[in-house]
Order: sequence, then structure tokens, then C-alpha cells
Amino acid sequence: MLPVIHIPNYASEVIRELERMGFSAYVVGGCVRDSLLGQKPADWDVCTDATPEDMLHIFRKWRVFKTGLKHGTITVRSRGHNVEVTTFRTDGTYSDNRHPDAVHFVSHIRDDLSRRDFTINAMAYNDFKGLVDAFGGQQDLEKHTLRCVGEPDVRFREDALRILRALRFAARFKFSIETETAYSVRRNRLLLENISAERIYKELQGILTAPGAGDMLTAFPEVFAAILPELAELIGSLDTDGIDRWTFTACAVQATPADFFPFRLAMLLHQLTPQTVSSALARLKSDNATARFVTTLLKHLSASLPTSRPEMRRLIGFTSREMVEHIINAHGIIDRLHHCSPSAVRSASMLLAEVLNSPPAYQARHLALGGNDLMEHGLAQGRHIGQILDQLLREVQNETLANTRESLLKRAIELSQSHFMS
Ligand code: ATP
Ligand code: MG
Repeated sequence: MLPVIHIPNYASEVIRELERMGFSAYVVGGCVRDSLLGQKPADWDVCTDATPEDMLHIFRKWRVFKTGLKHGTITVRSRGHNVEVTTFRTDGTYSDNRHPDAVHFVSHIRDDLSRRDFTINAMAYNDFKGLVDAFGGQQDLEKHTLRCVGEPDVRFREDALRILRALRFAARFKFSIETETAYSVRRNRLLLENISAERIYKELQGILTAPGAGDMLTAFPEVFAAILPELAELIGSLDTDGIDRWTFTACAVQATPADFFPFRLAMLLHQLTPQTVSSALARLKSDNATARFVTTLLKHLSASLPTSRPEMRRLIGFTSREMVEHIINAHGIIDRLHHCSPSAVRSASMLLAEVLNSPPAYQARHLALGGNDLMEHGLAQGRHIGQILDQLLREVQNETLANTRESLLKRAIELSQSHFMS
């Protein structure tokens, strides 16, 4: 049965406009692949034999952004959506393993498809011509296979980012990577040195948050070590229990919810020392929020979980309620993989629920009285006010002092007169 692809109106109007002026135009790439997989495409890209000048003329009355004009791409605003329209092109030589030195505009769709990375990404479609599939993309989709268009070594040498794109698409669709393409991914991995940290980080994010992340980690350890040499020490090494450390890492990543990148990144790095984690995050040029999440989670993953309500309250105070939930989950994942008894995790979850069900006492701001109240009652301003508040908080957290104004004030006066202040 011939595939029918439902092009949304905003994209088909762009195609019709080009056709009306005598050009051919197709939707192409990811939107065709996703439609054939029965998934909703994120965006619809169009390719055409119209040159960039032709396009600027044809769409002169439309809102147009000249996003990538020198590569033949403009963005056309159609019914509130952006549609990228690109002139059929082939790429010239690649001297830096990433960017073509020049692009050549061509008039045949097949030539344009031949520059694309993988067969499943190299299909085009329009309602007249139907599917244009010059490299067996549809068959590879059916076989759940990711395969380079053309000679894999040549394609990865042209643009080494494709190595990570291969892992990302295979992880996203849970496809296997065709044998020659897979060998070539491994053979050419060191070319990733020529790719910027920002691009690598983005692709790593895509791989780790995909459903098949664990499979890619298991199958291509040396590729991950090429982008993060800090991970190399895990490969082929056994921990004290005789468990393969890399396999354990892959399982830990896979056991984490897929949609939360910082957690998966933390699991990828969890067997490294804090200094090594910091250098890995710096190498990746990770954003600050992610780096903070990873270091906090790993710091508390290497410690034991709280075993009392006071400890639990202090942990929430140091981090946050959400972070404590992540810390407990992370412990749960690691314990399960080690086949440890889940009792510590279970009791920490119970403690957390109990603490959350009682009035909050995590930070000084939760006390029923503040520094100003203490000064109003004659305590001199200064560092010791903070020390008294810390002590009050500790006692409230320990449940040895009631969190009421009267009892806090009484205790504060006692503390200020005692050795505590000396
Ligand atoms: P996604 O849903 O992740 O955006 P996509 O297939 O749309 O998937 P894009 O990166 O948006 O991926 O690229 C659009 C199309 O351009 C791809 O489907 C592919 O045909 C082509 N393409 C993109 N990057 C490359 C590359 N580095 N090498 C060769 N072809 C590429
Ligand atoms: Mg896309």
C-alpha cells in the first residue's frame, strides 16, 4: 500500500505556491520519516528546485526570515507556523569534519536526498509524486534499521556530528544500527574531537533522553569515551562485587525516567569521583542548572539516606523537597541494580512522607520567630543572632523544642545567657 502523508495546510500552501510558479517542491526529512512511523512530526521542512533568489521573489509578500540563505534555506511564515524551505543542494568538500566548504544548488531531488545522513532521513513526499525514496529509507524503517546514505566512512568523515546523530536516532526509535554503519561509527569516533562542545552536549542530551539510551551505551562505549574520556576508566573494569562498571552505568541510565536529562546525566557519571564529574561537566560546557543538579544528586548518592526525621528535615533544608525525592529515587535505582534490600529506600520514603505531613521546619524562615523578634526582646544584633536561630532550628528539627513564639523566645534567651554564646 502506498503511504499517505497528511501534510498540514500551512506547509502544503508553501508547496502549492512554489508549484504555481512552475517549481517542484516536497516535504522532506524528519517529517516524512515521522509520518511513516505514525508519529506526529515536530516541524515540516520543504525542499524545492527554486533557487534562493526565486524563493525570495515568490514569497516576497509573505513574512520571510533569511535564516540560512547561503546554504539555500529561508524560513517562511505560513498560517502562524515557520516552514524551512531549502533549495535542492549537494554539499562540497568538508575540510573540517563538520561544515561543507561550499554548497551547490542542483535541480534533482535525488541529488538533494543523497547529501542527507541516513536513509530514513532521506525521503521526500508530495501529493503528486508520492514518496521519493531513492535509498531504501522505507524498507529500513520497516526493518527498524539506521543506515547511512552512501559510504559510511565517507559520510562520517564529512561530518563527524553524524556519529552522534546515528546514536540519537537509533536510541529514539529503538532501531539497530546497520553493521557497516555501526563499524564506521566506531572507527571514526575520534573525529568527534573536531566537533564543538555545544553540539556534542546537545546530541548527548538527545541520546540520553531517548528510550533506547541504555542500548546505545552498551553497544558503543568507545564512542561515549571519545566525547567524555573521563568515562574510559569504567570500560572493561569490574567493581569490588565483580560487576562490569560500564554495564552498570548503562543500566543505571536506562532505569531512570527518560524525560529528565540531568538525572540521566548524573547516572552516566555516577561512578566517577566528584573532581572527575566536575571536569566532565566543564568539558561538556553543561549549563549551570544541570551541573548543579548533577553534583548535588551525586554528592547525596554517595552518602547514606536519612534514617531519622531530624536528618530528613536537614537534608530538605540543604537541598529541596524535589531534590530529596530525586536522591531517594537514585538510591533506589542503584540498590535495585545491586540487588540490595530496598529497606533503606523504603524507610527514607516513609520518613519523607511523615516530615512533609508535619509543619515545615527545614530552614530558619520556617521558625515561628525571626531575628527581628529576638532583637526586639533585647538580644544584641550580630552574628550570634544567626547562631541562636540555627540552634533553635536544630532543636525544632530534632523535635525537642516546640515551634511556637513563646517556647522559641524562652529558649533563645536561655541560649543567649548560656555558654552557648561564648
Ligand atoms: P528531528 O526530529 O530530531 O529534528 P530531523 O530529521 O528533522 O529530526 P534535523 O536535524 O532537523 O533532523 O534535520 C532535518 C533533515 O536534514 C534530516 O532529516 C536530514 O535529512 C538532514 N540533515 C540534518 N543534519 C544533517 C547532517 N549533519 N548531515 C546530513 N544530513 C543532515
Ligand atoms: Mg527537524
